Amino acid sequence: MKNFEVAFIFSDIANILEIKGENFFKVRAYRRAAHAISNLPEDLQDIVEENRIEEVEGIGKALSEKIREILSTGTCKLYEDLKKEFPRDIVAMLRIPGLGAKKIKIIYDALHISSIDELEQAAVSHRLRTLPGMGVKTELAILKGIRMLRGEAGKTLLPTALALAEDIVSMLTTMPEVEEIDIAGSLRRRKELIGDIDILASSNKPDDVIEGFLRLPGVNEILAKGSTKASVRLDLGIQVDLRVVEPCLFHCALQYFTGSKEHNAKLRSIFQQKGFKLNEYGIYKENSGEAFFPRSEGEIYNFLKMQYIAPELREDRGELEAAMQGNLPVLLERQDIKGDLHIHTDWSDGNNSIEAIAAAAKSMGYEYIAITDHSKSLKIAGGLDEKRLREQMEVIKKLNSEIEGLRILSGIEVDILSNEIMDFDDEILSKLDVVVASIHSGFKQDREKLTRRIIAACENPHVDIIAHPTGRMLGKREPYDVDMDLIMKAAARTNTILEINSSPDRLDLNDMMARRAKDMGVKIAINTDAHEKEGLKDMRFGVWNARRAWLEKDNVINTRPLNMLIKELNGR
Ligand SMILES: [Zn+2]
Ligand SMILES: [Zn+2]
Repeated sequence: MKNFEVAFIFSDIANILEIKGENFFKVRAYRRAAHAISNLPEDLQDIVEENRIEEVEGIGKALSEKIREILSTGTCKLYEDLKKEFPRDIVAMLRIPGLGAKKIKIIYDALHISSIDELEQAAVSHRLRTLPGMGVKTELAILKGIRMLRGEAGKTLLPTALALAEDIVSMLTTMPEVEEIDIAGSLRRRKELIGDIDILASSNKPDDVIEGFLRLPGVNEILAKGSTKASVRLDLGIQVDLRVVEPCLFHCALQYFTGSKEHNAKLRSIFQQKGFKLNEYGIYKENSGEAFFPRSEGEIYNFLKMQYIAPELREDRGELEAAMQGNLPVLLERQDIKGDLHIHTDWSDGNNSIEAIAAAAKSMGYEYIAITDHSKSLKIAGGLDEKRLREQMEVIKKLNSEIEGLRILSGIEVDILSNEIMDFDDEILSKLDVVVASIHSGFKQDREKLTRRIIAACENPHVDIIAHPTGRMLGKREPYDVDMDLIMKAAARTNTILEINSSPDRLDLNDMMARRAKDMGVKIAINTDAHEKEGLKDMRFGVWNARRAWLEKDNVINTRPLNMLIKELNGR
């Protein structure tokens, strides 16, 4: 048995125990042991045979007994008993964003639902909202979570694909036969929707790596199996392709399998013009056949005196030409971001208090955040009226005098009403540090009318940022029918900032539009629109999207230190 197989059983036990409502310390003990085992540099079997197992951190007497039992029988009694008590498939529900162990237990006890399909059915037929501790909001959140997990039309949203791929990579990394391993394909290029997951490994024993891959937990069906590649379908329906190459070929193969096809075709033709052949097996001189095996992807691009091209740029959108001229943008990095300017709290439809959000933002190293709850017309989301907003401003003022190292900016996500009027009058808007304006109603208006609404917001001197400018929801809602060219022109003219909303089911502006905005001189803010503190971590998706849009630090206003940010916001 491989280390990852034992680790998987332990983490499964931890998950089922958690759902069962077992003691927190017991759950954590199994989870820690699973983590420790999957990070062991040597074979668990050897460690056990040499009686060194209790030297591994986090593994005491009880767990070492379990490990012996698993290694000799392939499972353990506790695991088998738990699976009799709870169907194993409910563990998959823990992956649904926003659904925790407690709620899964409530749902299971009341309705005996044991699969994600059944859960979706129950949510659609409104059977969840009446359960203890739930309600319409929870039911909708669960439905949204399921849809996010699945994506649509066979595609998966980036975070789901990434989490699955990282799991597989970390499990395979524990195999001593694996030399190097990485995610390739569109996932490495951080596209917003992912078809198949591509993983590339190098090894001198490809057969063993393939065998290990096929035995990974979560593999539902083997679609193809060869000596150096295999394809499987996971429980969630996503296809994963693994290729294994000789160690000296890893970097050429990684470049090749990262794509895109269009980027590679052009790169190959550039090599050809200079008398070289490039493919997944290396670089070859055309006339002599002399071979070169690059030791990094950078060496491939540098081979022709070209700048290294980050995976996010490899779409044949001018990056090769720019790299040859030494003109590639210095891409924005996650660490450049100094704060988040669009966040909801429990004052409207968020789940956490301002204090909790501030603490989370501080631990992320941010210098500032803006609290931007909904405005009064959005009653369904608990929008604030003027009185509540003024109260919130007072609370924030007080918090700022208590908290050190983080500045909380007072803001609002003000609705742009159907008649082009802002949901608050200028008097109160002028008192706020940040005004984010957006459309949440009247999506069906005609193109001219919708475009005019957003331009009206740009022209309001108190509006700083237009949030989720096209309103699309990936797999759920098309963008509004608006003339983005006119809107960008208005934004450039009025110095209004357009948002890249980092929520992985929005990513709005998308990469192409954000690049156009940059070219037109429009400033961008990358915000999460978080409705709970975990949502703040979505910033990375916005940053990847911005990198795909060729954005640099200077194009993004929330890279500025606090004093400069305030100056720029006031300068509007
Ligand atoms: Zn919004
Ligand atoms: Zn929002």
